[in-house]
Amino acid sequence: MPLPKRKFSKARTRKRRANHYLRVPHFARCAKCEQPILPHTICPNCGFYSGRLRAVVLEKEPG
Ligand SMILES: [Zn+2]
Repeated sequence: MPLPKRKFSKARTRKRRANHYLRVPHFARCAKCEQPILPHTICPNCGFYSGRLRAVVLEKEPG
């Protein structure tokens, strides 16, 4: 009986593996303090989102 050489083609395997690499997460800059922040999140440094104060950032305890 003839047998197929392989179950999946090289192209199909490589297309699947093309998504295996790790991506660097995208980030935006806070409009107020210019810290790098994740998009669509309140700035963890100053608490601003969309140009307004949305959350009060508590001081980190030393140590
Ligand atoms: Zn900020």
